[in-house]
Amino acid sequence: MNAPGGGPAASPTGRRILLLVGPVGAGKGTQAAALSRELGLVHLASGNLFRQALREGSPLGEQARTYMEHGDLVPDDITIQMFMHELSQPAAARGAILDGFPRTVAQAGALDQTLSERGEGIERVISIEVPLDDLVARVAGRRVCPVCGTPYHVDSDPPRVPGRCDKEGAELQQRDDDRPDVVRARLDKQIRPMLEVIDYYNRKGIVQHVDGRQPISAVTEEILEGLRTGW
Ligand code: AMP
Repeated sequence: MNAPGGGPAASPTGRRILLLVGPVGAGKGTQAAALSRELGLVHLASGNLFRQALREGSPLGEQARTYMEHGDLVPDDITIQMFMHELSQPAAARGAILDGFPRTVAQAGALDQTLSERGEGIERVISIEVPLDDLVARVAGRRVCPVCGTPYHVDSDPPRVPGRCDKEGAELQQRDDDRPDVVRARLDKQIRPMLEVIDYYNRKGIVQHVDGRQPISAVTEEILEGLRTGW
């Protein structure tokens, strides 16, 4: 773990901006939901925001469509614009947990710059770490509610009624890009830029490294403890 120096930097505006970083299958979505509840911060997940824009057929969705369909990153300017828009909404008044963004060092630099122009900054980067071999198996069991987006796992986080969302009762789905062959390809593409992003924030001394192989609640508790104590 990194020594935080003077402890986590509080944003001058008083709102908390946390980043959650980890490869597909590390449990980011699950941790983000728990942290969002515990801390009262909105959870902004880039993939979900883009998929929602696609479903709504908004101009943003149309701009993002071809990239997403090819599994490519949406260009930085579109992605940053989308996040800054979300951060300007009342739901983000107390702060936000960003998930899936920034995904490249270029995005990280642009985010830092845009936030600092507003007198804000990232308080903490939480890196959830799981060995590569465990990830593919984990992702294959992942299911999601098509209505509210709540994530489940057939083994480690099952719904009360198999195959049905606890909140909506809707039939849970497996995302096409969670199938094992697609997951390997996604991991290959994701890992290197993600390590570069972590390295970028490591140099700033704001990364909390968390062992994502622990039970879900232990991971949440370790993160919360880190935020309380400045680890
Ligand atoms: P995800 O659900 O996070 O895997 O994201 C699904 C798709 O949304 C990706 O394949 C990209 O096309 C797009 N996307 C998500 N996050 C970003 C990002 N930070 N920058 C650019 N494109 C993104």
